Amino acid sequence: MLFGLFWGDWTILIVLPGLIFTLIAQAMVRSAYEAGARVSMPWGMTGGALARRMLDANGMADVRIERVPGTLTDHYDPRERVLRLSENVYTGANAAAVGVAAHEAGHAMQDARGYVPLRLRMAMVPVTNFGARMAMPLFLIGLIFTSLFRTGILFFEWLMLAGILAFSLSVLFQLVTLPVEFNASRRALRSLAGSGTMSEEQLRAARRVLSAAAMTYVASLAVGLLSLLRLLLIFSSASSRRR
Ligand SMILES: [Zn+2]
Repeated sequence: MLFGLFWGDWTILIVLPGLIFTLIAQAMVRSAYEAGARVSMPWGMTGGALARRMLDANGMADVRIERVPGTLTDHYDPRERVLRLSENVYTGANAAAVGVAAHEAGHAMQDARGYVPLRLRMAMVPVTNFGARMAMPLFLIGLIFTSLFRTGILFFEWLMLAGILAFSLSVLFQLVTLPVEFNASRRALRSLAGSGTMSEEQLRAARRVLSAAAMTYVASLAVGLLSLLRLLLIFSSASSRRR
C-alpha cells in the first residue's frame, strides 16, 4: 500500500531532472579529477604539503592534517579543527589533489576568520539531522491516515505538514551549504594563484575540479527543492480527496 501511495505515483517524475543533474555533476567531477591528476605539480608538491603550507601561511599552524581512507572523502572538521585528506589527495603531486586540498584548507580559513555561513551551517547540523529523521515517518503516517479517513480528522493533515516542514530544514541546510562551498573554492584558487608557483595549465585543471565539485552541491539543492515540491503536491492531492 505504501508503494502505491508514495513510490508508485507519478509525482516521482518531478524529482527525475534533479537526479539526472546529480549523475551528470558526479561524472563531471570524476572526469575533471582524472584530467587534473594527469597534470603534475612542480617539485612534487603534494596535496598534503600544499594544505600544510596554506594553513601555516594563514596562521593556522595548530590545525592538524590527517589521512583518511576512501576517494574524495576529504573534509575539514571544524569541531576538532582537523583537515582530513584522502590518500590520493594527500600523496598526489598533481593539480587535482592540490585543488581539493586547497579547497579543504579554504574551509579551515573560513573557520579561523569566523565566516558567517560556515557558522550558520554548523549550528544547523543537529536540527537538520533531527528533521531528516522525522520528515518521512511523519509525512507517511499522515498520508496513510489522511487517505484512510475520508472525513474529519484534520490531525493527520497536520502530521503531513509537520513532515514537510521537517524536510524543508534539510533543503535550507543545502542552501546554506552553497555559499560555504563556493567561498572555500574561491579562497583556494586565490591562494593557489597568489602562490605564483602554479602554471596556467595547473591552475586551470584545479579550477575545473572545484567547479565540477560545486555543481554537485547545486544538484543536491535541486533534488531537495524538487522533492519538497513533490511532497507539497502529494499533500494537496491527499487533502483535497478527503473533502
Ligand atoms: Zn567543501
